[in-house]
This record gives sequence, C-alpha cells and structure tokens, in this order.
Amino acid sequence: MLDLAIIGGGPAGLTAGLYATRGGLKDVVMFEFGMPGGQITQSSEIENYPGVFREEPPLTGMELMEPWPKQCMHFGLKHEMAQVKKVTKSNNIFKIITDSQEFEAKSVIVCTGSTPKRAGFKGEDEFFGKGVSTCATCDGFFYKDKEVAVLGGGDTALEEALYLANICSKVYLIHRRDKFRAAPPTIERVMKNDKIELVLNAHIQEVYGSTMGVEGVKVLKDGKELDLKVPGIFVFVGNNVNNDVLKQDDGNFLCDVNDNGEVIVNLNMHTSLNGLYAAGDIRINAAKQVVCAAGDGAVAGMEALNYVQEHFND
Ligand code: FAD
Ligand code: NAP
Repeated sequence: MLDLAIIGGGPAGLTAGLYATRGGLKDVVMFEFGMPGGQITQSSEIENYPGVFREEPPLTGMELMEPWPKQCMHFGLKHEMAQVKKVTKSNNIFKIITDSQEFEAKSVIVCTGSTPKRAGFKGEDEFFGKGVSTCATCDGFFYKDKEVAVLGGGDTALEEALYLANICSKVYLIHRRDKFRAAPPTIERVMKNDKIELVLNAHIQEVYGSTMGVEGVKVLKDGKELDLKVPGIFVFVGNNVNNDVLKQDDGNFLCDVNDNGEVIVNLNMHTSLNGLYAAGDIRINAAKQVVCAAGDGAVAGMEALNYVQEHFND
C-alpha cells in the first residue's frame, strides 16, 4: 500500500512529493498522465517566480519546471504516467483507480488544477499565449502603459480589469450584457476607474494579428463593428475545475466543494475528509500562481506526512 498518492504533477503535486519524501514517507507515487510540470509549461515567459529571473530571452515555463521532477525523484518520489479516473475511501484506506490499474493508499493529495474556459471567438486559440491571455498577474506587465481589452462580466473579469488598470494606459472591458454578475462593490470600483472603458452588449468577433502577436480585436456592438487596436486581450469567462477524480458513483464528491466545484480546504490544505488534502489551483481562493501552488504543495506534503505517521504506526 502507498503511503501517499498525489494526483497531478504540476507545481503543487511535485512540491507535495518533494516535502513528503524528503520528510520520510517511503512509498509516494505522483499520478500524472503527461510529462510532469503542469500548465505553466505552456507559457512562453514567466518572470514572477522568485529567484529564477532571466531578462533576455525571458525564462519559459518549460525551463522553469525542467529541474523540478529530477529534484523530487532524487528524494524518492515515483511517477506513474496514468490518468486517474476516481479516488474513493473505505475502511480508512483510499483507492486510486486509473485507466488500467487500482492502487491503495493511506493518504491522498489532489493537485489536478483548473482550466480557464475559452470564449470561442475567432483567433482565440491561434493567438493564445501571443496576446490572448487568461492571467493578468502573469501577463499584465507585458502591456505596461499600453491599451488592453478584458472579456467577461464576473468577479474575475472585473477584479482583473482593475488590476490591469494599475499597469496599462487603458482597459476596454467587453461584456455580452449590460449587467455585471460581479459583486456590487467591485462593480462600483470599476465604474469609478477612469482608465476602464465599458463596452457593453458586445461580442468579440475576431482577434487578429501577425506572427508577432495580437494587433487588435473586432467587436460587434449594437449592430456596429468596433476595431480596438490592442496588443493584448484577457479572457475571463469562468473556469473548469478539474475535480472529476473526486466524483463518486452516487453523484456526490468525496469531500466538500463550493458551488464552483473548487475543493474546500483549511489553511493546512485539509479537505473535509481525513487523510485527503488538496493543493494548488483546484482549491478555493487559489491565487492561481506557480509560487502559491508550490507553497500549497509543501504544506499538504507535510500534513500528509504527519497524518500517515500518526494513523499508521507500523
Ligand atoms: P497545474 O499546473 O494545472 O497541474 C495539474 C496537473 O494535473 C497537470 O499536469 C495535469 O496534467 C494533471 N492532471 C489533471 N487531471 C489529472 C488526472 N485525472 N490524472 C492524472 N493527472 C492529472 N503562474 C505564475 O505564477 N506566473 C505566470 O507567469 C503564469 N503564467 C501562466 C501562463 C499560462 C499560459 C498558463 C496556462 C498559466 C500560467 N500561470 C502562471 C498559472 C500557473 O501555471 C498555475 O497557477 C499553476 O500551474 C497551478 O499549479 P497546479 O499544480 O495547481 O496545477
Ligand atoms: P463567472 O462568474 O462564471 O463569470 C463569467 C463571465 O463570463 C460572465 O459574466 C459571463 O457572462 C461571461 N461569459 C461566459 N461565457 C462567455 C463567452 N463565451 N463569451 C463572452 N462572455 C462569456 O466566472 P468568474 O468571474 O471566473 O467567477 C467564478 C466564481 O468565482 C464566481 O462564483 C465568482 O463569484 C467567484 N469569484 C469570486 C471572487 C471574489 O469573491 N473576490 C473573485 C473571483 C471569482 P454572463 O454574465 O452574461 O453569463
């Protein structure tokens, strides 16, 4: 039986594995169906992970993550290249069910992340990472003193529009209705911000550009086409939380999740179920940053270690 099963091999899962194995757990397996590294490996530049800054050319997400698996494996973490279908628990033992095998584990950390939804306009996929972004904290600085557009009308879109307004010269906030679903105080702050221009009842038709990246966005508003010449467009139309592994046969989740499907944890990454932890973008109130996911993973790894040592004293 495994001491610990880690589901997901991004920054949270890898760091959880490092802390658990280096802390003394022997049989720790990280289940990751792709190469370890997580979604940051899709990013062409990362400049906010402390301690590893490179100005020219900027550090890529792939370069940032490249040494992580080797460091973790050195302390004993094992990688099982498999997609986990389901995690269950009975008689104090977890079962990890993959495509082809079943494993038993004393404790589990879920680090499967979440995936920003795409809005579906023309050019969105083509220019993703080349002007189309789903992360203002990650990419906002690249548009310092430039004009950008934000799509969406929820809390994330409005909060990120405010964040971008601190950096950029102007923010066009494009929303498909004339009512926002964000919290009223956030709407009020957006309304009062001189740098944010609302583009309401509007639909993005196309993002266009060249091999160098986005040059503008065409928007249909009140039957008229607007051509906003912006080099960056930030899409915030909701998230898909990767929580399928926690769904049980009766339709319930293995532990408590909020209305958005994010796993509810306390400050020690404990879920509502003993021995089950969640770390990184899958959890409530996640900052959705590599450094934060790694921090969560460290906490969860140490907590799992304590749990196994306390409850399985063999
Ligand atoms: P993830 O990195 O999403 O890792 C989850 C892993 O779980 C994935 O590797 C996935 O394959 C695996 N997985 C999922 N389901 C299963 C399953 N059922 N079985 C097995 N494996 C599974 N953050 C920053 O700090 N700075 C930046 O500049 C930055 N830029 C970004 C740019 C882009 C384009 C993107 C997409 C993200 C960016 N981020 C950035 C955000 C950052 O990547 C995430 O916050 C971070 O990766 C979250 O780590 P995680 O370990 O929680 O999840
Ligand atoms: P969200 O609340 O689901 O809002 C998504 C927004 O995108 C909506 O305004 C929606 O328009 C729009 N949209 C969806 N699909 C679209 C498409 N294809 N094209 C154009 N627009 C599209 O998502 P979120 O803002 O990420 O928030 C998710 C959850 O986290 C919410 O419960 C939110 O309250 C919470 N959250 C809370 C805070 C906070 O409390 N500070 C911060 C961030 C998020 P419609 O309005 O027309 O549907």
